[in-house]
Amino acid sequence: MAQDDFDLFVIGGGSGGVRAGRIAANHGARVGVAEEYRFGGTCVIRGCVPKKLLVYASRFAAEFADAAGFGWRMGKPTFDWRALVAAKDREIARLEGIYAANLEKANAAIFPERATLLGPNQVRLHSGRTLTAGRILIATGGRPTMPHELPGIEHAITSNEAFDLETLPSSIAIVGGGYIALEFAGIFAGLGARVTLVHRGANLLRGFDGDLSRRVLEAYRARGIRVELEATLLKLDRAGAGAPIVATLNSGNAVEVEQVMFAIGRMPNVEGLGLEQAGIRTDRNGAIIVDELSRTSVPSIYAIGDVTNRLNLTPVAIREGHAFADTVFGDRPWQADYENVPTAVFSTPEIGTVGLSEEAAVSRHGIVDIYRADFRTLKATLSGSDERMLMKLVVDGSSDRVLGAHLIGPDAGELIQVIATLLRTGVTKRDFDQTMPLHPSSAEELMTLRTRSARRIQHHDPQLGLMP
Ligand SMILES: Cc1cc2nc3c(=O)[nH]c(=O)nc-3n(C[C@H](O)[C@H](O)[C@H](O)COP(=O)(O)OP(=O)(O)OC[C@H]3O[C@@H](n4cnc5c(N)ncnc54)[C@H](O)[C@@H]3O)c2cc1C
Repeated sequence: MAQDDFDLFVIGGGSGGVRAGRIAANHGARVGVAEEYRFGGTCVIRGCVPKKLLVYASRFAAEFADAAGFGWRMGKPTFDWRALVAAKDREIARLEGIYAANLEKANAAIFPERATLLGPNQVRLHSGRTLTAGRILIATGGRPTMPHELPGIEHAITSNEAFDLETLPSSIAIVGGGYIALEFAGIFAGLGARVTLVHRGANLLRGFDGDLSRRVLEAYRARGIRVELEATLLKLDRAGAGAPIVATLNSGNAVEVEQVMFAIGRMPNVEGLGLEQAGIRTDRNGAIIVDELSRTSVPSIYAIGDVTNRLNLTPVAIREGHAFADTVFGDRPWQADYENVPTAVFSTPEIGTVGLSEEAAVSRHGIVDIYRADFRTLKATLSGSDERMLMKLVVDGSSDRVLGAHLIGPDAGELIQVIATLLRTGVTKRDFDQTMPLHPSSAEELMTLRTRSARRIQHHDPQLGLMP
């Protein structure tokens, strides 16, 4: 029998695909990786990395204002959007080069073109070439969802385009209430745009702890961001190129803006991939169904990352890719652990969260204790800003184990990374109490949460389980 062209062919050169390809090649597999757009994928090219760079840019305006309280005197700062976009582009081009180079260094063959499935061991490249592989890994990620039926939707953009706008819009309506919508609302507001956030739900950040979603809403409104809750868009009208977009809401009100951006969710990138021909099962959202070892319904085909819609974060895609490569090519089976995954929302104020929200903890545990600190930061005492920090621990009242930690305020993302390790090791509230605080810091407040803010008790019904 003729040998396959590759032991592994990876479709998608993003976070997960590149890690899987590189590790499999290091284990001695003959690897090919196809990428239809740019190596690095969503995170590097139009996700986490450029997003965080824009977040940094957006926070300087408040920093300049804060500096005055510390004695600094300066002229009126001005901002150059094009300079920022160009600097951001240089950095992502550098990272893109590193991603491709790392694959090549590991002796993987790279194909800068689209690939689709022809069968359990066969792919077709856009150039027309057909290749065979012992195993195929689908790591095609996701893309923004757009309501294509909305009249005037052609006037709207997604996060993909927001990174590369020719000019900074003076006003923008952002549709959505998830982390991407909030981050971009914060970015554009910080850079001086008039921002309207339109969200169909009653609360921002569905699934997050209620204190975080309430606080970010208050903070955004205090920053002058107009937040329309339980609101949807009925249509978008534009009189002509260059004219403002008129966004009509279900309330009958209309907002006139220069840009409209949709951030209402993302969907798996499976269109035209040939899943049906190969016999791969998907769920009702189009996500590829996999088992804990990332195996699809076809034994030779695996899938990782956002295309499987498990936990759509870069480090998760990377772990899944690494676990796949070690398991299949390194004779070292392991799987990604989805417990206590820390998450940040780079809104301003920033959010860091890990573990169970108060609401989730109450539905799963009999007695839940809540400890909260809500304070003005030390820096704000001189800057005169209204910057605050809210910190919250959700504790199992029976075992004293910390079930969740939720922070909103400066550096919340940095802090939560370390707290996630503590939660993995089963940290108790008593451990926090016994740790010497570091003074003066915001983090020390976590060690001095002496007084319980609330105790939530559920009564157990033998038939119905826990009752609120
Ligand atoms: C605006 C934004 C901000 C984000 N911020 C964060 C954050 O702060 N932290 C975080 O952890 N996550 C963040 N994410 C999510 C993160 O980007 C994804 O979870 C991560 O990129 C998923 O990696 P992946 O390998 O599954 O897919 P991707 O990185 O999307 O890579 C998939 C690749 O496959 C390619 N491809 C698709 N189809 C084909 C085909 N048929 N042939 C060849 N190539 C193909 C695509 O071009 C893409 O490069 C953000 C996402 C967005 C959109």
